[in-house]
Amino acid sequence: MTSLLPTISHWINGTEWSGAPARVGEVYDPATGAITANVAFADAEVVDAAVAGAKKAYLSWRESSLTKRTQVLFAFRELLNAHREELAALVTAEHGKVLADSLGEVTRGLEVVEFACGIPQLLKGGFSEGVSTGVDVYSIRQPLGVVGVISPFNFPAMVPMWFFPIAIAAGNSVVIKPSEKDPSAANFIAQLWAKAGLPEGVFTVLHGDKVAVDGLLTHPDVKSISFVGSTPIARYVYETGTAHGKRVQALGGAKNHMLVLPDADLNLAADQAVNAGFGSAGERCMAISVVVAVEPVADQLVAGIAERMSRLRTGDGRRGCDMGPLVTRVHRDKVASYVAAGAKEGATLVVDGRGIEVDGADEGFWLGPTLFDHVTTDMSIYQEEIFGPVLSIVRVNSYDEGLALINDHPYGNGTAIFTNDGGAARRFQNEVEVGMVGINVPVPVPMAYYSFGGWKNSLFGDSHAHGLEGVNFFTRGKVVTSRWLDPSHGGLNLGFPTQT
Ligand code: NAD
Repeated sequence: MTSLLPTISHWINGTEWSGAPARVGEVYDPATGAITANVAFADAEVVDAAVAGAKKAYLSWRESSLTKRTQVLFAFRELLNAHREELAALVTAEHGKVLADSLGEVTRGLEVVEFACGIPQLLKGGFSEGVSTGVDVYSIRQPLGVVGVISPFNFPAMVPMWFFPIAIAAGNSVVIKPSEKDPSAANFIAQLWAKAGLPEGVFTVLHGDKVAVDGLLTHPDVKSISFVGSTPIARYVYETGTAHGKRVQALGGAKNHMLVLPDADLNLAADQAVNAGFGSAGERCMAISVVVAVEPVADQLVAGIAERMSRLRTGDGRRGCDMGPLVTRVHRDKVASYVAAGAKEGATLVVDGRGIEVDGADEGFWLGPTLFDHVTTDMSIYQEEIFGPVLSIVRVNSYDEGLALINDHPYGNGTAIFTNDGGAARRFQNEVEVGMVGINVPVPVPMAYYSFGGWKNSLFGDSHAHGLEGVNFFTRGKVVTSRWLDPSHGGLNLGFPTQT
């Protein structure tokens, strides 16, 4: 039977790939449960074509001047800004998050584009005149070549933008493999790049699954991989990519704790626990999934959180609701199975999001905000990343007990402390083993000019995303020692060069 659905195809050499895909995946509207499109899955042949086009483009793009590259970046910035609402609507249609949230992710991606517009300043090297008599030394940074970006479903616009603006500004060409669950944002962005005047092949979109990922990980012409996704895949990508000689940064999963000290403003803490726990239906790597309440405030905090949850409206992200559906039926069922597991393991189910009334179609992938109290560290809902609207309260008796719990957790992406005690906050920022820390800020996502990334099982590799670490990741350093002919320095000398 011929499908009447549109097929979202790869973007290779500045245009949509016209070949018929051997395999496709289904793309859903999570708020209605309907299949809205098929997405092409690349095979090895398509991976080769994509990388070959990107390699050819790189050879001339790296030679274009900083002025030219910056002009293209500025044009792209203007187009992205002008089309942000269309892009946000695409994200909501395939991911399900509410429109305001989609707009927020486009804005945070735009900030990285703006940071990359400053590439001439960021690429400036050092220069030392006269390190030896008549000898000067200077450093330069050069692009890597074709770089791969593999992104997750939860930020189809922002996460790719953590990487490609800087990579392109630095003179690389980029092959991006978006999540097959919400692939349209990448194609929309590719069209904006084309309108901005980026030469064809510098930005390539390769759709697919493990076959496409493995193709990039093992291709000799792909020089680096920037991956964001779950921890088991991040570990696999890191190990496979580095075994094939690539530079790899692989950002993984998370389990973010919010430590609430007894002196905290409990109204602020309750507001922020709800915002950070249920924003984007908990499908954020910086979502708060555990509130660690230091007694004696737990009862009051739980009551405040539950009351606020009762005011949330779950439904279609296009209808002004607070929280949308989960991304797929399979994922919704997985998250719901954690709710069942938590109740079975003995946690107190304060608010049960299963079967709630929603403002949306019956077939949508719904699960309402869910709250567990009296969660203990041996429970699966504490140990594992759930990636849904499920918030756990763990009760402790001291700051030290709370800190130890956070530091013992295998994930180390983000964390937050809520307190009015500056000394306690300062101690926490120093002692906590987590990459991104908020002080009375629940989702401490760094600005574009700082770098984003966690510790422990939340990141494999040495480099965080964007900021100066991003610039360094997408460039290689070179140091040049130069002497222009001076007759007084002739003659043979086989000794190791030292300064004279
Ligand atoms: P995922 O790991 O399932 O998929 C990520 C990417 O890997 C996708 O492009 C997917 O197609 C590909 N992939 C999936 N299975 C693969 C396999 N077996 N072999 C090779 N490639 C494979 O992640 P997801 O469900 O799309 O995203 C959610 C996860 O991403 C969560 O764990 C979340 O914490 C994490 N995340 C982390 C950050 C961070 O900054 N640390 C940011 C966003 C999301």
